[in-house]
Amino acid sequence: MLEVDGLVKAFGGFHAVDGCTLRVAKGEILGLIGPNGAGKTTLFNLVAGALQPTAGTIRFLGEDITALPTDARFHKGLVRTFQIPHEFHNLTARENLMMVPPRQPGENLFANWFAAGKVRAAEEAVRQKADDTLAFLELTHVADERAGNLSGGQKKLLELGRTMMTDAKLVLLDEPAAGVNRTLLRKLEEKILILNRERGYTFILIEHDMEMIEKLCAPVVCMAEGKVLIQGDFHTVRSDSRVLEAYLGE
Ligand code: ADP
Repeated sequence: MLEVDGLVKAFGGFHAVDGCTLRVAKGEILGLIGPNGAGKTTLFNLVAGALQPTAGTIRFLGEDITALPTDARFHKGLVRTFQIPHEFHNLTARENLMMVPPRQPGENLFANWFAAGKVRAAEEAVRQKADDTLAFLELTHVADERAGNLSGGQKKLLELGRTMMTDAKLVLLDEPAAGVNRTLLRKLEEKILILNRERGYTFILIEHDMEMIEKLCAPVVCMAEGKVLIQGDFHTVRSDSRVLEAYLGE
């Protein structure tokens, strides 16, 4: 699904990503770990299109997307979750979902936005999808709550919900466990697994919470100094001496 080859991102003379090669197959939940400064976030930014690489290529579903802007990647189904933007804090949870642009231009519900009589039907369909998404995430009881008032875990679930509004194919999750209490963490894990197993989502997940990585991720990739150090199952990666050394040097 995703093929990253020889990817380099230089900031001045410093290579934050330094010849990174990686494969993600459809149906995987790939866990990306590594010490701070390993280049994980920079790699996400390159894959999502927020940064342009200095060298290397990125292919998605067989197509070279290296030069494509973020929105074109989004329309192909490659979606990165973002924190709910500050300006959206005053919108309700439901409105936050309804604000997500549809992924397929031309087929989308808003294509006939200005055509008389179709506005209401389009809005109703989007509202229904938002409500279905809230129900799946068990957030129906906060549908009309302002996003800014939600707990850390509820916000993470809502961020996941925003990707569901687009019917994404590959979702990049940046530290989904950060700031989430244990109860909602279990829920978040459960929802990610259902999206993966029953709805065909592929994920790449940057995470420091090793329990979550162990539960959800195969394979696990450890990056260090801008490169892939090792790829394998959780226990192989966690017990590899190079990985332990990389973390000790943090
Ligand atoms: P990780 O997510 O693994 O902690 P990052 O990708 O955030 O690592 O950072 C990798 C390295 O690149 C770090 O040393 C960081 O300071 C550096 N870096 C990241 N973004 C920039 C930037 N815009 N300008 C200069 N250096 C950067």
